[in-house]
Amino acid sequence: MKNLFVSLLPVALLATGAVHAADFPAKDKPITFVVPFTAGGPTDRVARDLAEAMRKPLGGVNIVVDNAGGAGGSIGANKVAKAPADGYTLLVHHIGMATMPTLVRNLPFKVDSDFEYLGMINDVPMTVLGRSTLEANNFKDLSAWVNQNKSKVNLGNAGIGSASHLCGLMLQKAMKVEMTAVPYKGTAPAMADLLGGQIDLLCDQTTNTTSQIEAKKVKAYAVTTPKRLSTPALKDLPTAGEAGLKDFEVTIWHGLYAPKGTPPDVQKKLNDALRTALKDPEFIKKQEGLGAVIVADKRVEPGEHKKFVAGEIAKWSPIIKAAGVYAD
Ligand code: ASP
Repeated sequence: MKNLFVSLLPVALLATGAVHAADFPAKDKPITFVVPFTAGGPTDRVARDLAEAMRKPLGGVNIVVDNAGGAGGSIGANKVAKAPADGYTLLVHHIGMATMPTLVRNLPFKVDSDFEYLGMINDVPMTVLGRSTLEANNFKDLSAWVNQNKSKVNLGNAGIGSASHLCGLMLQKAMKVEMTAVPYKGTAPAMADLLGGQIDLLCDQTTNTTSQIEAKKVKAYAVTTPKRLSTPALKDLPTAGEAGLKDFEVTIWHGLYAPKGTPPDVQKKLNDALRTALKDPEFIKKQEGLGAVIVADKRVEPGEHKKFVAGEIAKWSPIIKAAGVYAD
C-alpha cells in the first residue's frame, strides 16, 4: 500500500500542477507585484501602471503592489526568488538585475537561475538633478561647484546596486570627484530630500523626475541618453555628451520575473497578458508622458529578455569593477 502511494505521488502532483495552470489566475486570489523599492518612485510607478494594464487580460484579477525596498533592490528580488512558484508573486525590477551580480558580493540569489523571465516592459532615460537652491544653472557651473566642494556634496541614491547608484558612479567618474553617497530605500524619499534641500544631487529616471523638472522644483542638468528626448518638459535638457561628459550614457529598463519553476502554462499566460498591456494605449500614454519608451521589440519574448539581461551584465560588469565599489 505504502509503495503504491509513493509511486502514485508524482502523478498526483503533476495532475495538481496541470489543473492549477489551467485555472490560473483564480478570481479570488490576487497577484502580487513585488517592487524592490519604496512607493512613489519610478519602479513603483511602472509596476502600478502595468498592474492596471495587465488586470484586464488576466480576467480582471486583482494585482497588488508590495514595496519591499532596501539593499539596492536585492531584498525585494530575494523575496520573489524564494516565493512559491505559482505565478501569484512576481517581481518588477530594473537594470539592477544586471548590476547587482557584480556590485553585491553575497547576493542571496542568482539572477540567471532563480527566476523565470517573463518579458521586458520599458526603457527609461535618467536625468541629473540638483536641489533648486544650487547656484549652478548648467553643467559647466555644476562641475565647478562640485570640484570646489568635493566630498561635501551629498549625492542621493537608492542603495548599492540601484540605478541611481550606477548613474552616480558614472557621474563621479566623469567629474573625477568622490562625493558623499546618501542611500535611501528608493528614489521617492531621495527626491523628497532633494526637494527639501537635505541632499544636493540625485540621478533618477524621468518617470520620477519629469513632473519636478516641469514644476521647476529641481535644477535639471542633463539627460543620460545619446540623443535629446522629445518629451516636452525634457526636450531642452542637454545630453551628458553635449554637457561635456564622455562615456556617460545609461538607459534604465524594467522587466517582469517569476520564481524559477513557475509552470510553463502560467508563464505563457503572464507573458501574453504582458504583451497585451504593452499595446494598451492608456499604459503607453502614461509612461511615454514621463519619458519612458514601451518595449515593442523582441525583448517581450522571455528568451530574448534573458539574453538582453545577460548582455547588460557583460556590459556593466567591467565598468563597475573599474569603479571598485561593492556591497556585501
Ligand atoms: N530609481 C530608483 C533607483 O535608483 C529606484 C526606485 O524606483 O525607487 O534604482
